[in-house]
Amino acid sequence: MSYVRKCVSEVEGYVPGEQPVGDGYVKLNTNENPYPPSPRVIEALRAAVGPTIRRYPQPTADRLREKIAQVYRFSRDEVIVTNGMDELLNLVVRTFVEPDDTVVLTYPTYVLYDTLVRLHGAKTVSHELAPDFSLPDSIFGAGEGRVIFFSRPNSPTGNLFERKRVADLVRGFDGLVAIDEAYVDFAEDNCLELARRNENVIVMRTFSKSFSLAGIRIGFGVANRKIIAELMKVKDSYNVSTLSQIAATAALDDYESMLDSVEKVKRTRDRLASELRSLGFKVLPSQANFVFATPAEYPLRARETYLRLKERKIIVRYLDMRRLDNSVRITVGTDEEMDLLLAALKDIM
Ligand code: PMP
Repeated sequence: MSYVRKCVSEVEGYVPGEQPVGDGYVKLNTNENPYPPSPRVIEALRAAVGPTIRRYPQPTADRLREKIAQVYRFSRDEVIVTNGMDELLNLVVRTFVEPDDTVVLTYPTYVLYDTLVRLHGAKTVSHELAPDFSLPDSIFGAGEGRVIFFSRPNSPTGNLFERKRVADLVRGFDGLVAIDEAYVDFAEDNCLELARRNENVIVMRTFSKSFSLAGIRIGFGVANRKIIAELMKVKDSYNVSTLSQIAATAALDDYESMLDSVEKVKRTRDRLASELRSLGFKVLPSQANFVFATPAEYPLRARETYLRLKERKIIVRYLDMRRLDNSVRITVGTDEEMDLLLAALKDIM
């Protein structure tokens, strides 16, 4: 089609992990939380469904912003709420990147960053992570970029870049440092303090993982108020639905319930990693709610592992990309789901 923008027709489009229709699947491919959200979320949603839904939502989600500000110790003007973190990633690109600018990424990382930047008509340079997937020295001289995106814990490998190295990166980089903390509630520390102390840092979070609210689509960012004010101009007026705002506010009101499910997931993660290792997998130390596991050798290669599990209605993520195609990414489920997975793996092997 000749009337499509060149930068759009050239991009393949991001392909999210499959969402199988029907029951009976053990779904371990998109890092959802296996436990339900707080019962207070469900109650709040039920109470909110009624005739007032004819009204538009609060355009800037101020009640939820206040709540986020209070919980994470920022002021309201330092918070933006978005339709999932994916919307925020898009807003960062549209607000801070000129077409033709360069955005700095790591490799491997969350694939969507590259897709969004190229859809915008800009370029990416990717710095290859070290063999253990830590930050490479090369990235510290990456002065040329407008924005640098990375995820901490990293996706899809689950490791946590050293916080001190991230602080060094922030000091040495002229553009905006956009830190994706989608999985940080499962990790041992976070970078909120860097957003508090530096004008060029935005920390981005989601309610999809630790808060068990992937279906409700809520993300948020915290940064200097000037950065937030610019992002606010670019977002849709009503980017977050009334029900989503209510659900996320109720989830923060019951923060304890999130912490409980995170603790359960972390315990199961450690058990899963050690059982996979005893089956001969190499497993990277994970600070997220998934593990990145490399089968020892043929006959149980990664792609085959993925396909044979799928025949048994167990879905894990296989990424057919350099440095990733020898491994599978497995979301930590309930202990019962992990029993089914491990039994299937033993059977396949
Ligand atoms: N960042 C990373 C690293 C992710 O894995 C995901 C979820 N796929 C997101 C951001 C997006 O999260 P959300 O569901 O809030 O759009």
